[in-house]
Amino acid sequence: MKRLALFAVCLALYGAALIPACSAPAKRWFKGNTHTHTLWSDGNGAPEKVVSFYTESDYDFLVLSDHNRLSEGEHWFPVDGKRLTEEKLAELIETFGAEAVEVRDEPRREMRLQTLDELRARFEAPGEFLLIQGEEVTDSWEDFPVHINAINIDKVIEPTHGDSVGDTIRRNMEAITAEAQRSGREVLAHLNHPNFGWGVTVAEVAAMPLERFFEVYNGHSSVRNYGDAEHASMDALWDEALVIRIEDNNLGMLFGVATDDSHDYYSWGVGKTNPGRGWVMVQAATLEANDIVRAMKAGDFYASTGVVLGDVQRGATSIALKIEAQEGVSYTTQFIGTLRGHGPGEVGVLLAEKQGTEASYEFSGEELYVRAKVLSSRDHPNPYAAGDKEVAWIQPVIPAR
Ligand SMILES: [Zn+2]
Ligand SMILES: [Zn+2]
Repeated sequence: MKRLALFAVCLALYGAALIPACSAPAKRWFKGNTHTHTLWSDGNGAPEKVVSFYTESDYDFLVLSDHNRLSEGEHWFPVDGKRLTEEKLAELIETFGAEAVEVRDEPRREMRLQTLDELRARFEAPGEFLLIQGEEVTDSWEDFPVHINAINIDKVIEPTHGDSVGDTIRRNMEAITAEAQRSGREVLAHLNHPNFGWGVTVAEVAAMPLERFFEVYNGHSSVRNYGDAEHASMDALWDEALVIRIEDNNLGMLFGVATDDSHDYYSWGVGKTNPGRGWVMVQAATLEANDIVRAMKAGDFYASTGVVLGDVQRGATSIALKIEAQEGVSYTTQFIGTLRGHGPGEVGVLLAEKQGTEASYEFSGEELYVRAKVLSSRDHPNPYAAGDKEVAWIQPVIPAR
């Protein structure tokens, strides 16, 4: 609010010709989660409970992304003691008021789910909190899951299916792109959890046309962020896919997002799929959906599970960053990349490592790309896996040849 007030004063002074001009508001960081489930699909939280978690946790924006549906229309959810119990219903009534929780007993005991419009009326505040409409376009080829989050859409997108995993990604991306063109909105799509069900391989990520985003971190307990003996971790996949995209496929950039994929709002800990684990910090001029998506498409964001950055400079010849340090926490910044003429075992190598709260890396001219990762000494308060520390991932830079 303070920022808006300042801008209003600025405009008033400008109007009174007391100062020559007011510059546009500076870009600021906005914290958001782009992957969230509710009772509208397979989450166990009522939409208002889910959104209130994020507003109370100081998020600036949230994308509700239920499977193949939007939070719209009249939908009654059974109070049958399974995902919605009498106890949970009573808690909702106590928290949000009886007038906000609509219940009926015929033909059975049910609660009406709040729509996005209702949630916006309750929770949104200009410049403070924004809800962006999204959907997890949930498809598969044979037994392999192919899930893509479509963000800032205004119409449900039906999964298209395809003849292979790669073809399924391509067709769904074409559908999302067509929807963006129809609506005129800035729409962002990110490929979710490649290792969930071992659904999407490095080669398929490396060959994705239209798609430039994937989840380098997903807080869901089943997504195998760290891979296994035969499958790449998400960090390794990022490097391997980038190399193939740049060297062989002429597809270039791949951005990494961190998300919650939250489903469980009632029990907490490792093995649960809780909110608050991973997010993006987006540097944008305004807290508006088109601006947020545009900034992400420009790479003006980082992914985090707790590390906060004050400044990130991704230049043509260097990457530099400043960390907003927490007391008693130490930080290591790794600059990771792959050099031209690399051998097969020289993908995603550590180019430099810096301790402390500021770090920079000057390109030598030999790099195919460089990205940075900040490792903190602080334990994640509610980790995806036991022992996880807080981390931030800075988006790659691909130097011009
Ligand atoms: Zn999914
Ligand atoms: Zn999901």
